[in-house]
Amino acid sequence: MFVYIAGNIALDFCNTETKSRGETIELLNSVTDLKLWAEGAGLGLTNHKVLKKDLDNALDLRQAIKGLLAARLAHEDPRQSDIDTLNQYLVFPVAEQELKYTGGSFFIKKNVQQTIELLFAQIAQSATEVLLDGQKYTLKQCANPACILYFLDKSKTQQRKWCSMVICGNRLKVSNHHKRHKTLSDDEAAR
Ligand SMILES: [Zn+2]
Repeated sequence: MFVYIAGNIALDFCNTETKSRGETIELLNSVTDLKLWAEGAGLGLTNHKVLKKDLDNALDLRQAIKGLLAARLAHEDPRQSDIDTLNQYLVFPVAEQELKYTGGSFFIKKNVQQTIELLFAQIAQSATEVLLDGQKYTLKQCANPACILYFLDKSKTQQRKWCSMVICGNRLKVSNHHKRHKTLSDDEAAR
């Protein structure tokens, strides 16, 4: 049920609030949802109890990031309160890890337990990577007006339009095709 299509953890996290047929759909409805999301993102928590207040904090953090992203895309100044919220989660160090090299490849060895604080810090950190100027990839929102999912366009041509070809790309193509087809038959009928 979660989609990890954004190419960035913070954006994937924002995409836990989605839209279908004009209605907002909340995918983080419980502490369990939050844990499952973290697992799916490769940031699974290690034996830590997640409390209701953690879920509340997660939703606050998500709202702040979404506010910052929306301002960014609209070329508007962000709300200071959103920046303040994000900053609350940036104070926790994310870098307690070690780069290792073995058998011809690099890997990260985590030296800390994956706590909820660390998860939030990773999300917040990842959000700053989208917001800072001079980033390699462009922040975009799905071109389907009925969809609100965010992603980073990592394509070489910078032409990525859809959150996912399967979810939105095809659907819109099909509906455009139907529209064209319908107009054609209407014309024919008028003749
Ligand atoms: Zn979409």
